Amino acid sequence: MATEEAPHSTLPYPPIHQDKKFVVLSDWDGTITNHDSNDYLTDHLGYGTEKRRQGNRDILTGKVTFRDAFREMLESVTANGHKFNECAEVLRQSINLDVGFKDFYSYCKQADVPVVIISSGMAPLIRVVLSKLIGDEQAKEIEVVANDADVKEDGSWSIKYRHPTSGFGHDKSQAILPYRRLPSPPTIFFFGDGVSDMSAARHADLLFVKKVPGEDNDLSTFCEREGIPHLLFENFGGALKVVSQVVEGKLTVHDALKLGSV
Ligand SMILES: [Mg+2]
Repeated sequence: MATEEAPHSTLPYPPIHQDKKFVVLSDWDGTITNHDSNDYLTDHLGYGTEKRRQGNRDILTGKVTFRDAFREMLESVTANGHKFNECAEVLRQSINLDVGFKDFYSYCKQADVPVVIISSGMAPLIRVVLSKLIGDEQAKEIEVVANDADVKEDGSWSIKYRHPTSGFGHDKSQAILPYRRLPSPPTIFFFGDGVSDMSAARHADLLFVKKVPGEDNDLSTFCEREGIPHLLFENFGGALKVVSQVVEGKLTVHDALKLGSV
């Protein structure tokens, strides 16, 4: 489902990391965080869990595009009068990190493995939550490739898509493919959990799919249906064991995929 021709990007990209042996690209919502912040807004301030879940199912079956369904979810929040700053504050107070992410990030930093957040959420909201969770200094270091928000003077807002002509809104494969085209491409680890990661799923060397017991696991459903090789993980603690072994040459990507879940 990746777009053959690159969709026009309305937002800049950070320069890619040349000459690295490994790169981590990761979804933010529900992957690095314990809850998806946009789901949280829709469920609590918008039209609620039922409709939101139906929207996700419709994306998964191809009935609607991610771009259109996701916009509708967010519009249900703004239709109830919730201003941008209020939403940012709600998320700042409600969203936490995956239990293993801090250690995972520290390891990557000392092992010279860049970590880039690739999100279909809105960068200013991600920045607010990230700063609270890991501190301003570390939050500034982490690159975020996401959508943006148009915030009006009265605080009303809407999502500004990176790739408005793509049904993905943000076609995440466009953050991966430039790495693939390097003369010596790095090994790419991609982490995701949901329908927003469908555009990226086939382009990683080692795809980690977050699986939360007892919850819907849309990316896992998608990968099984499409036959995309992946490794299930419950948190970044388990993922770190695999990533560190691959980085240190003790495990191949091929053998890592055979583990099935960590
Ligand atoms: Mg997600």
